Amino acid sequence: MKLTEEDIRPKQLASGQKIAALTDLGRMLTRSSEFVEVDCPACGQHDPQPCYVKNGMSYVSCPHCRTLYVNPRPPPAVLDWFYRESPNYAYWNKYIFPASEPARREHIFVPRVDRLLDICARYEVQTDALLEVGAGFGTFCAELNSRDVFQRVVGVEPTPDLANTCRSRGVEIIESPIEHVRTEAVGQFDVVASFEVIEHLFKPVEFIAHMVRLIRPGGVLMLTCPNGQGFDIETLGPLSTTVDHEHLNYFNPASMAGLLKRHGMELIESFTPGKLDAELVRNKVLEGAFSLEEQPFLKKVLIDEWEHHGAAFQDFLVARGMSSNLWVVARKPAT
Ligand SMILES: [Zn+2]
Repeated sequence: MKLTEEDIRPKQLASGQKIAALTDLGRMLTRSSEFVEVDCPACGQHDPQPCYVKNGMSYVSCPHCRTLYVNPRPPPAVLDWFYRESPNYAYWNKYIFPASEPARREHIFVPRVDRLLDICARYEVQTDALLEVGAGFGTFCAELNSRDVFQRVVGVEPTPDLANTCRSRGVEIIESPIEHVRTEAVGQFDVVASFEVIEHLFKPVEFIAHMVRLIRPGGVLMLTCPNGQGFDIETLGPLSTTVDHEHLNYFNPASMAGLLKRHGMELIESFTPGKLDAELVRNKVLEGAFSLEEQPFLKKVLIDEWEHHGAAFQDFLVARGMSSNLWVVARKPAT
C-alpha cells in the first residue's frame, strides 16, 4: 500500500485538529512578549537574516550554516507550559493517534525499525541496550522489542499519560526529561535514538550533549528531524505544513553534521528518506494555495505529467539528500 498524506492525517479529523492547533497557536502568541533572541541553534553564530513571518512567529536563516530557525522564540518556561496544557496534543492523543496508529505503524514505525536495524548491522553496532528519547506512545519501542534484537529497549518519556501508555505495552520507561536521567545511565547505551524531537526544543545543543553522555564509547546516535533545505520546505516556504509554531529548528544535513562534530561525534551517515515532498507541494497547488504557473518545469512534473514523473521525482529527491525528512547517524569514538 502506498503512503499518502491522508493515511497519517485522517481527513475526517482534520477540522477538530485544526481548531485545536489554532487554539494552541493562540496560546503560544499570548506569551510572545516573553520570547527571547537566540544564536543559531546549529553553529552558534548570531547573524539572523529574516526569511518570513508565519502566524506571528519570525523565521530567520543563518548565513553561515543555512539553518532556518524561529527567532525570537519561546523560552523553556513557556514551552513547558505550552506542551503541558496543549489542547492540540490532547486531541492528537485522544483521536488522531488511535485512528491512524495502524497506518503510522506500517508506514512510519516498521520502516524506522527496519532502517535502524540495518544501520546497526552494517556498522556492527552492539545490540545490548538501546534508548529512545521521546518514546511517545511507545510504538517504536514495542516494534523494536518484537524483533528480539536488542536485549534491552528503554524509552525516555516525561509526559505521565504517555509513559503509562508505553508501560501498558510492555515498554521499559524512564519517566523523566532527558536532562534529569540518572547518572547510572551514563555511557550505558549502544544506541541512543530520537525521532522528530529536536526541532521542538529551545536549545538543541544541550539536548545533543545529554544524549551523547548516555552513549557508550563506540556506540551510535541516530536522530531524525525536518530538513530545512528539503524540497517541500524550500519550495513552499511559509505554506509548508512542516513550518509551524512548534518547530523552532530546521537543520539541514550539513548544519546537523557540524553540530554533532562539535560534540565529538563522528558522522557516519546522513540521508533523507522522505516519501511525501512532491505530493505535499502538488496538494498545495491542487488546493489553489500555491501556484506553479511561473514554474512550467515543476508544473509539468508535479501536475500535468504527475502519473509519469511523480514517483521518480520523489526518488530523485531522496537519492540527492533533498527530501524534507532528515536522518543522521553518528558514532561516539571508542576511547
Ligand atoms: Zn548557523
